[in-house]
Amino acid sequence: MKVVCVGGGPAGLYFSILMKLRDPAHDVTVYERDAAGSTYGWGVTYWAALLDKLRAGDPESARAVEDASVRWSDGVAYVGDATTRHHGDEGFGIGRHRLLAILAGRARDLGVRVVHEREVEPGTDAGLDGVLAGADLVVAADGVRSALRGRWAGHFGTDVSVGRNPYIWLGTTKVFDAFTFSFVESEHGWIWCYAYRFCEDASTVVVECAPGTWRGLGLDRGSEADGLRRLEELFAGLLDGHPLTGRGGGDGAAAQWLTFRTLTNRTWHRGNVVLLGDAAHTTHYSIGAGTSLALEDALALAAALHAEPAAGAAGLDAALTRYENVRRAELLSVQSAARFSARWYEELPRYLRLPPERMFALLGQRHSPLLPYVPPQLYYRLDHAAGRLEPLRRLKRWLGPRLAGTLHARTRA
Ligand SMILES: Cc1cc2nc3c(=O)[nH]c(=O)nc-3n(C[C@H](O)[C@H](O)[C@H](O)COP(=O)(O)OP(=O)(O)OC[C@H]3O[C@@H](n4cnc5c(N)ncnc54)[C@H](O)[C@@H]3O)c2cc1C
Repeated sequence: MKVVCVGGGPAGLYFSILMKLRDPAHDVTVYERDAAGSTYGWGVTYWAALLDKLRAGDPESARAVEDASVRWSDGVAYVGDATTRHHGDEGFGIGRHRLLAILAGRARDLGVRVVHEREVEPGTDAGLDGVLAGADLVVAADGVRSALRGRWAGHFGTDVSVGRNPYIWLGTTKVFDAFTFSFVESEHGWIWCYAYRFCEDASTVVVECAPGTWRGLGLDRGSEADGLRRLEELFAGLLDGHPLTGRGGGDGAAAQWLTFRTLTNRTWHRGNVVLLGDAAHTTHYSIGAGTSLALEDALALAAALHAEPAAGAAGLDAALTRYENVRRAELLSVQSAARFSARWYEELPRYLRLPPERMFALLGQRHSPLLPYVPPQLYYRLDHAAGRLEPLRRLKRWLGPRLAGTLHARTRA
């Protein structure tokens, strides 16, 4: 099979590895528009369950990813002057650069052509980009702003809802020993960040606030350096004198901030073109799952392609439909969690006046579909008293995807 992957992020690279492992005779090329080693973002989190899946897919890259990751098991929250710390499940962090280098190296070793600095044009009605013509399978792994998906946006039925709060993804040399949340009250409202280590000497910091706070603090103006200095002042207690680092590029402070785009598609494939990872779906960064989901997509697509006797267009269509059905079902609960998590932060004032212990407990419950509808103190008491009751947990699990679907439909209406 001749396979062209557009995009050398986690989804495209991992899929290319899995295809070559399944059948070394596959002819697989990954085209990435950026230079090797240059990527946005700092570190990403994941949990142990992902490593189990990666080990099943390719033990060698799984081992390399695990060896390059750091671990933590405590969570700490600073809310104004109060601090609260909890022990939780073990989490992992890895630098995005490091992850991509591991995957690209492994892909090359297996015989995948990984071509950097080649932006694939989706083509026009007159014809596809030359590199796409002649491929049996074109994988659109080109991220949330996928040009390939955009080429047939009507067919894919792309739906984007834009989050309210601006956020910025930064790095720092401060090394956090726990997954850390910090909520700071400024003269223009609350601003908060979460931070985690992703290698021996650096951490990621994601900062978010309401739009009025962002403008009031002047974060929408000036140079990137001005914006970073302002954030260093605001989070001085957290950073212990360590600097924050942005993306650079000289575009000014405002350009470094984004609002999150939650993206869904009515269908994920068209002919021999299939969407993978962020090109197919996104989940709010506050649940730290997008990379894991992109890798799981790759596992599911490779499995579906090799489960179907992919003879001709009908065989390919059956395989792509199977992939889409499997992943859609698996994504329901995580998409629900992501929507409620984003909403929790947008409704932060509801929770900030609680005693720190309670606020932190509800931060851990932010995926709950019930929490927005129950007074926080009452929810806390109910959850605390009955939290171990299996029926309540089952009700929450059952309600999650349904409420999220209804709310999403209402938001779009
Ligand atoms: C603030 C923030 C924090 C996050 N934290 C986490 C986290 O902790 N854990 C986690 O699991 N996820 C996290 N994510 C999500 C994660 O970054 C994405 O979900 C993940 O990168 C998706 O992988 P992908 O391969 O689908 O897309 P991408 O990583 O976006 O890769 C797409 C690639 O395609 C390339 N490309 C685009 N167009 C073209 C073209 N026309 N031709 C050639 N190449 C092209 C791009 O350059 C890019 O390299 C976070 C996201 C944000 C915004």
